[in-house]
Amino acid sequence: MASGADGVSRSDAGAAIVSHLVLENTACPLCGEPQSHTVLVASDLLYGCPGEFKLARCAACYHVFLNPRPTRECIGQFYPADYGPFRGALSVPRPLGSGQCGPLPNGRGTVTRSWKCLRRLVLWWIDSRAAPIPHSPLPAPYSPLALELGCSHGAFLHQLRERGWKCVGIEPAAEVARRAVETGLDVRVGSLESVVASDPQTFAPSSFDAIFAWMVIEHLHDPVATLRLARELLKPGGTLSISVPNFGCWEQRTFGRVWYALQLPTHLQHFTSASIRRMLAASGLELVEVIHQRNVNNLVGSLGLWLRTKFPRWSLGERLIHWTDNPSAIGLCLLTPLARILAIVRQSGRLTVVARRSNPPMR
Ligand SMILES: [Zn+2]
Repeated sequence: MASGADGVSRSDAGAAIVSHLVLENTACPLCGEPQSHTVLVASDLLYGCPGEFKLARCAACYHVFLNPRPTRECIGQFYPADYGPFRGALSVPRPLGSGQCGPLPNGRGTVTRSWKCLRRLVLWWIDSRAAPIPHSPLPAPYSPLALELGCSHGAFLHQLRERGWKCVGIEPAAEVARRAVETGLDVRVGSLESVVASDPQTFAPSSFDAIFAWMVIEHLHDPVATLRLARELLKPGGTLSISVPNFGCWEQRTFGRVWYALQLPTHLQHFTSASIRRMLAASGLELVEVIHQRNVNNLVGSLGLWLRTKFPRWSLGERLIHWTDNPSAIGLCLLTPLARILAIVRQSGRLTVVARRSNPPMR
C-alpha cells in the first residue's frame, strides 16, 4: 500500500515512468474540511503503476477525492508518453461526435453530395454533446476570444478557429504543446497559474469570452483556485465549459475498482453533479447547464478492464480498452441508442457543465 506522507521509491520495470512518488495528505479540496473517510481502495489498472490508492469522501460536503495524493512536483510522472489524450493525429484531428462536418474523400480527391449527407447524418446520430461550441457573443466581423485549458494537440482549438473564434491554449506537457504550436496554434506550456503570471498582458482580467476545460478539472490539486482564476479572466457574462467523469453514475457503483474513469492516481477529484454545483458556487460561477453526455466510452473501457483482470489470457479486454481510446464510427453508431438512453435518465458516465461568470467567490 503506497500511503502516508513519506517518499516511496519505485523500481518496478513495468512502471518505469514512476521513479519517485511522494504522497501528501489533504483536506477536502472543495470546502477545506480536514475530516474524510476512505470509500474505495484501488490500483492503477491502465498503466500498471505499482501500489494502491485511496479515495476519500469529505465528512462535510461529501466530495470524493484522492487522499493521500501525489504532490504537484511528482504527479507528472504518472502521465506517460502514451497517455491517451497525448496520442493521436498531429494533423488537426476532428473528433468523432464533435458535431462538425468536413470533407470526406471518395478516393478521387473529390467529395460527393451523398457522402456529405451520409457524414452529416452519422455525425448527428453519434453526437455526444461532449464539447459544445457556443454561438459567438460578438457581432460580425468581431471575433470572440477563447481559452482552452489542457488543450493537448489542439484539436478543439482548431474547431474554434473554424467557427471564427480567436483562441489560446494552455498545455502542461511541453512536447504535446510543441506539436500543437507546429500546427499554427498559440499554445502556452504550464499551468493556468504559471502562464497567467508569465504573460499578464495577454491574460489580463476580463479578457476572454469563453474558457473551456475538457476532462481537465479532475486532474487538478486545487480546482476551486483554478476556477476562481478562470473566472477573473472571463468577461462579465463570459462562459466556462468543462467536462468531467460522473462519479455519481451507475457505472461507478457497478464496476467499483475497475471503473475506467477512476484512472488512479491522475484523477485527483471525482465529481458528481452535486459536487460540481458546490465547486462552481465556491468559485463565483453561476451554473447554466449540466449535460449528460451521450457517451458510453467509460462503460466499454470498464468492461475491458474487468475482462482483462478476470481473464488475463483473453484479448477481448485489451481490445475494448484500446477501442475506448480510438472508437470506431460503426461502434459508436451501434452504441448510440444505449448512450442516448443513459443520458436521458441522467446516468451518463461523463458530464459536460456550462457556467457563467457571476458574483464574487464566497469562500
Ligand atoms: Zn468538503
